Amino acid sequence: MSDFSYAVQLAQKLIRCPSITPEEAGTLDLLEEELTQHGFNCTRLAFGDGKDRIDNLYAEFGEGPAHFAFAGHVDVVPVGRVEDWQFNPFQAEISDGFLYGRGAADMKSGIAAFISAIRQWQESSQKQTKISLIITGDEEADAINGTSKMVDWMRQNNIRPDMCIVAEPTSQKQIGDNIRNGRRGSLSGSLIVTGKQGHVAYPHLARNPTSALMQMLAPVTSAELDGGNPYFGPSTAEITGLSTSSNVTNVIPATASAMFNIRFNTEHTKETLQAWLEEHFYRIAKAFKVQFEIKWKSNADPFVTEAGKLTQLLSAAIKAKTGRIAELSTTGGTSDARFITQLCPVAEFGLVGKTMHQIDENVLVEDIDMLANIYEEMLHRFDANNEY
Ligand SMILES: [Zn+2]
Repeated sequence: MSDFSYAVQLAQKLIRCPSITPEEAGTLDLLEEELTQHGFNCTRLAFGDGKDRIDNLYAEFGEGPAHFAFAGHVDVVPVGRVEDWQFNPFQAEISDGFLYGRGAADMKSGIAAFISAIRQWQESSQKQTKISLIITGDEEADAINGTSKMVDWMRQNNIRPDMCIVAEPTSQKQIGDNIRNGRRGSLSGSLIVTGKQGHVAYPHLARNPTSALMQMLAPVTSAELDGGNPYFGPSTAEITGLSTSSNVTNVIPATASAMFNIRFNTEHTKETLQAWLEEHFYRIAKAFKVQFEIKWKSNADPFVTEAGKLTQLLSAAIKAKTGRIAELSTTGGTSDARFITQLCPVAEFGLVGKTMHQIDENVLVEDIDMLANIYEEMLHRFDANNEY
């Protein structure tokens, strides 16, 4: 018998499944079995074909009318060089009070914590609150056949939680110091400018596309695009790649290309950014008499859950269990919360994430139990807040 709690043991079992996207590697069977034992109805939702096929799990308990959701992903990023790890990344070793393994922080322990919280809550809750779990196997890669499609499916089936917590590791230094209530959007551009190749000594016979390209890129050169707003810092833009068709010093290249990425707040949409930049590119291209082609790619719109019932209940639960005042923040990369926001108010809250995606990813074992306590407290506060 292990001395560790249910939550910690479940986290260990999940880590021992090497579920690098797109493999679920037994994680969903494990959860389905666990959840069925605790009265959940489980629905496996597979989306995509062939090598793009992803398995997901939707699980539901209780009748409602009040409806609370938790969301999480069972997939993990690759481990890097296994020999660089102190412990095997899929062994779930516990040493000096820390649990080590790929997914320990991001975010198998978070899933284990909410399942443990629900078990505890089921024993004491007087309410018929419905709990649903949105568990995907496709968060770390392209996130095409995961939460996005599960949310579509839920909408088609008229499943609408009142609020949702995503168990991403949002805490910075100590558990409870940070709640994420929004995320920036991401827009990438791939720009190719075509001029006319020629001898550098005879520039009047050529048209150098790099001169145009440099002016075209001016607005996205490590620039802040706005002054931010009450929920977000300024939108930022960075150039991520540059090249030309020439690799010698005596030829003016025929083409010059660049890639850039914009992380934008709710002051913009991808459409307004694209229209603004395309207009600028067009003007420069005309002045330099060059052609350009721009390809856009965006996998995330910005969103924000304004301070309200969800953030109040969650902050109060965190304060009650840890004494800490959680800061609301919208920093960091993208997450599946960007899809869930189409269903209901959503916030991300979980363990300390500072080692996520790193070698020797780890979390404090006692934090896993604390997180389960906070989630359980959240469920009781949600119950108390619903009059029916
Ligand atoms: Zn994650």
